[in-house]
Amino acid sequence: MGMNATLAAAATRAAAPLAGTAPWYHAPRAELLAPLSDKHAALLLPIAVYWLASLGFFVLDALALPFFERFRLHEPAEVTARNRVSPARVAAMVAVQQVLQTAVGMLALEGDDVGRAQVFADHDGAVARMALRVAPYASAAAAPRLAAWLYWWGIPALQFAWAFFVMDAWQYGLHRLFHESRFLYRHFHSHHHRLYVPYAFGALYNHPVEGLLLDSAGGALAHLCARMTVRQGILLFTFSTYKTVCDHGGYAFPVWLDPLHLFFPNNAEYHDVHHQMQGLRYNFSQPFFVHFDVLFGTRMGAERFAKLKQASLEKRGTYGKQADASAGEKQAASSATATEPSPTRAADDLRRRKAFVGAAQDEASVETLLAGERGDPTVTTDAQSYRAKAGTAAA
Ligand SMILES: [Zn+2]
Ligand SMILES: [Zn+2]
Repeated sequence: MGMNATLAAAATRAAAPLAGTAPWYHAPRAELLAPLSDKHAALLLPIAVYWLASLGFFVLDALALPFFERFRLHEPAEVTARNRVSPARVAAMVAVQQVLQTAVGMLALEGDDVGRAQVFADHDGAVARMALRVAPYASAAAAPRLAAWLYWWGIPALQFAWAFFVMDAWQYGLHRLFHESRFLYRHFHSHHHRLYVPYAFGALYNHPVEGLLLDSAGGALAHLCARMTVRQGILLFTFSTYKTVCDHGGYAFPVWLDPLHLFFPNNAEYHDVHHQMQGLRYNFSQPFFVHFDVLFGTRMGAERFAKLKQASLEKRGTYGKQADASAGEKQAASSATATEPSPTRAADDLRRRKAFVGAAQDEASVETLLAGERGDPTVTTDAQSYRAKAGTAAA
């Protein structure tokens, strides 16, 4: 075919000057990850990374190495005691979500020729034109190098920063709306909040409508607004997916273990606050930065949150009692699930539910404390509305 010959010729032409200057993902070949087309890679790589990263966290959980255990945000037993959905159902729903997202992506994304045209574009010419534009601000020797740097690194870095900003804005706005509207919370977003103790592969456990609107559409919009190429899209979608998995991973790693914390203040510890019932009204930002929470007064640092929670529990004098009760609870839960059929399990469920309502009352008092400290009536809701929003009022 004439088209392929042209592409091949362009590839050989482009290969030499690109080496060492362009980001790796611009490798001048038709498919970055042959035999996958770039379009398919943009759809499938995020899914692969989602499950691989989740597997990594699963192994960490299973091994329970003391080195990593000290960074764990919750006791392992809390996963079964507090979450209101089984891991099997979470995995199945995430898989459904990913099939849906892939189907919509196949329809929405352009053909492979668009991505190939981007890879085999006249990059040398574009750098040369940019060199002319930066010439007034640089010496004759520096201008070409500056132009190449801007073209391959400077502008793409800005594109990614802008895409992160757009994704954050979309997620903050919609996420908050899904909390503010009782209807939206009850029917859609409450699914995600069945995980009081988040874990990695629950990151994208959502109602399918929310998944498509918040995550898939948010990614597509960020990609579009930042005028990214298909290959930049592979990186954007994969990275944001990986980030979301880490934020639900359940480990508050220090910066030397997870250098991403250097760039992104939104992390597992931060998002974990939002998954606690008393933190539902805070930390809506995800997945990268926290400026929208700061701007709209919904930011709650993990340390301050823990302090307020502790103060509230001590004030009620229930801390010791509750810890004992929940330890017994967990033991009962594990022996019941291991051996006994329904009667014991029903009784166990009842105990668990009672403990849960007790916890909800403590959590409400944290809210009162916070309201007093903040003096901000707009952020406060009462205990009843908490329970209603979390769907426990009817239980
Ligand atoms: Zn939420
Ligand atoms: Zn979450």
